[in-house]
Formats: sequence, structure tokens, C-alpha cells
Amino acid sequence: MQSRMALLEIELNHVIAVVDEEGLDHPEFDNLLARARGFGLSLQDTIELPYSRVQQLAQCELAAAEEGRSAKSSLPLVDNHADKMLKELLEYAVKERATDVHIKILDDNQEHPSVKVQLRIDGRLRPHPYLSNAGSAAPLRKMIQVVYGARIDAGSNSESGHSDAINQYATITLVLGGTTRTLRYQSFKIQHGNRYVIRIPDERESESTDLASLHYMPTQLGLLRKVARQKYGAVLFCGTVNTGKTTSMQRMVLNTPHAEELHIASLEDPIEGHIMGHKVSRIAIQRGAEGKGGKDGNNPFARTVRDLLRGDIDVFYMGEIRDRETASAFEAAIQTGHKGYATLHLGSAFSAIPRLSGREIGISRESVATEDFLAAIISQRLMPRLCSKCSISPLEATNFGISFDQEQKEALAALQQKFKIKLDTVRIRRTGVDCQHCKGTGTVDRILIAEVVVPDAHMFKLWREGRDADAKEYWRKTRKTPFDDPDCSGKTAYEHGIYRVSVGEIDPFDLDAVIPLSFYDVVPVGDL
Ligand SMILES: [Zn+2]
Repeated sequence: MQSRMALLEIELNHVIAVVDEEGLDHPEFDNLLARARGFGLSLQDTIELPYSRVQQLAQCELAAAEEGRSAKSSLPLVDNHADKMLKELLEYAVKERATDVHIKILDDNQEHPSVKVQLRIDGRLRPHPYLSNAGSAAPLRKMIQVVYGARIDAGSNSESGHSDAINQYATITLVLGGTTRTLRYQSFKIQHGNRYVIRIPDERESESTDLASLHYMPTQLGLLRKVARQKYGAVLFCGTVNTGKTTSMQRMVLNTPHAEELHIASLEDPIEGHIMGHKVSRIAIQRGAEGKGGKDGNNPFARTVRDLLRGDIDVFYMGEIRDRETASAFEAAIQTGHKGYATLHLGSAFSAIPRLSGREIGISRESVATEDFLAAIISQRLMPRLCSKCSISPLEATNFGISFDQEQKEALAALQQKFKIKLDTVRIRRTGVDCQHCKGTGTVDRILIAEVVVPDAHMFKLWREGRDADAKEYWRKTRKTPFDDPDCSGKTAYEHGIYRVSVGEIDPFDLDAVIPLSFYDVVPVGDL
């Protein structure tokens, strides 16, 4: 696309853009201009020319750049090999449903650098089919330089130029698979080399606004819809990285009834993509402004939350509550009668109260463990979803030449004895088989497992008394059904996972890798 457009430097830091008719309407043209601004170039004029003329001019400019005569030689004036390689790698990753691309280059052996390129697909890292070899080291390094030098979004970069000596961060906005995506780039200096990670947000997921498409169970959806209707209180989404908690939170905010009659705001740092549509005022965290002093000190996040409260809002959502200042601003917003959503980096809903009232964050239990403050806590995780075409029952494993090791035998025994799951509907994955459906990976996507906790008065009382374990046990005793029943009332995310195992949606050994099935404590409820 860049050969349809070029920037010509007419004097130092002054450019004109030349572009053909098709390039003019292409989002890449806006990207080019934004990057030019990011480099401090001043755009004097935009001239539309025929395609062939643009190409000629672009080539002249490239030649000048290569001779070092152009001041901004790192701007991608025309297609080059590294740029093409990046585009191909990312298009391939999108096609394979990858969420991350990992590139590791180790230089401990100068002649044969060790190169590993992996794609995270359905939660697991898989090797790229042909880039993991010493010969790819130089082109990949060049590609990374192009990424950081020219592809990144203006102002998103942690440093002005690429360096392998430090860890660097930036966002990259590209058209991939037909949609515009904002990717996150993070590099790491590691021993003997570097690791580069490019995270690809799933725009296909965020196009839908339907809560049901996130795969919560009907009992959980019922609770979430009630909570979305509630006019005040905090809704906390817990999860570790890559668990879909932000997507779920955004989706729930968009499902606020009568959203068009409300002022809904999201606090973002920075604003990325276009996921929230037009129902939401998207507000960037105000960095760099003079500190207003007071409670928030120089915490820009907390300050922006307080700005928001003066702006007559009904519902807001923000990112992670990670420190005292953010928590205190969030607390103030909820206590003044707003509806607020936030995330916590935790593996369980029941860790939320101890975390919020712990030393690091320090909201008092009296404040957080009340019906007025806390509406719901959701905790979730994404598990690889089995391919329905090539997965098999563990009972027929020997027919396929699969034998189980001791740990796997224990897992299957626990599944039957502790959770009372019958193995005939359970499925396990096979890999490397000739399956069109999953391309031999054994999994086709990732699927949610979750716990949705809407606390009652007794739980709040237990929490206020510091009896966290009792509160959890009390909630788990509200379980109404056996583990192979879709009703998820009182079931933890792990137990939701057991249900998914019982119907062959996820592999018991994947759940066993989260916590061994034989270690997991079941809270007995009556005869269940
Ligand atoms: Zn398959």
C-alpha cells in the first residue's frame, strides 16, 4: 500500500504527501500522516497523482533515504522486505487465530543465532512453520527495527528509537484480515538476546455486543443481566492475563439497559481500537498534566477518575485497580452512587475482598464488604476448546495407541470418584492427526470458565468479620446440582470447567494443569 503514497521532504522536517486516488481513501494513508507527525515532520501539502507517478517519486525518495540524504530515513516510504515480512507474519497469525506472536533471538553463538518464532493459539505456544531457524535472525531483526522505527503509533512508544539493550513498548495499528487492529508490542532484553512479543487483540470478538456469545452458562448470564440493570455499585472482573476479562467487562457495560439514555464513560490508557462503539465516552488518562496535589498526588489514573465524577456520569469502567490511589478514586466514585466496573489481577473471585482490603490497596472492609458498595465479582479463565471432529473418549484411548501416565490416571480417577463424572462423554485431544477442522492441533478456539458471585447479606457480614474462608464455603454450599449439570449456581470457575469436561468441551488434562484434579477440594452439599 505504501507504494501508493509517499512523503517527500522538501526542506528539513517539511514534507508533502503524494498519493494516488486509491491510496487517498485507505486507512494506511492516515497512519502514514500520523507517523509523520510523530516524527515531528510538518505536512505542507497533499497532492493527488496517478499511481505510476507516485511510485516514481517514492523510489526517488527511497534512494535519497538510503544515501542518508533524507532526514527521516526510517519512515516507510515504500514497501520493503522487512515491512512485507511483518505484514505476512501478522496476517498468518490472524488467520491461525493467534493472540500473540513471540520471537526469541539468542546471539550466544554469533554464527548460528538461535531463533524461535511461536504463535499463541488457543492458549498454547506453537512453533511458526518455517521461521524458527538461524537464517531468519537477520531478517527478523531488521523487521523489528522497522516495527519500532516506523510502524508504531505516534506517541505510543516508550523510547524514540529501537534498541535491543532495553525493554520497549509501543502500539501498532494495522489493517489485518480486513479489520483495523491495534497491536501491543513489547520487547525484552534477556540473557544472550531478545524476546519480542506482539499481542493481537481479537477484533472479531469485540464486534459482537451480545453477552451470550461470551459462553457464560444460562444461570451466570441471568445473574449478569440483573447486575447490569442495577444502577449503582461495583462490578469487579478478576482474572490473570489473557483471560478475556476486559472483553467481558466491556460487553457487560454495553449491555447496560437503556444505555443510550445514560452517560457511560471508559477510562483508558491509552485509547486503543474502536471496540466500545459510540455508546461510550472514551477518556484517555491525563498524563503529564500538572499534579493537582491532594489525595491522588501525581497518580494520573486517580486524578482522571475524579475528573470524571464532576462530569455527571452514570456508569463508568476503568482498567485494573492496582494501587492505593486508583482504589481510593474508585471507592469514592462508588460511594457517591455511581455504577463502576474495574478489573483485578487475581485467579479467584474470593481473593477480591482480601486483595482490596490488603496492605497494598487498603480500602477498609467496612467500606467494600457492603451491599451498597459491591454488586458482583466475576472471575474467569479461558481454556482450549476441543475439536469435536478428532477428540476421543479416554475409554477408547488404547484403540488410538494412547497410554496414560500415572498423573493422568490419577486425574481420570479423581474425575470419576470425586466429581462423579462418567468418562463416556468426556473427550481428550489428539494432536498431529490429519483433521481439516482443527488443522491437527486438537483444539479449535478457547472457551470461558467462570464464577459469578453476587454476594448476599450473610457473606458481607462474614467478610466484614474477616472470615474470608467461611464466606467462600458459604457461597459454595449454595451449589444446587451435581458437577455434570449446567446449573452453575455456587460453582467455582474450576467446577464450571468440570462441567465442560463432562460434556467433552475441554480436555480433563488441561484442567488438571490448572490445579491437579486429585488435589482439588470439593465442598460436599447434601447428596450432591
Ligand atoms: Zn480436529
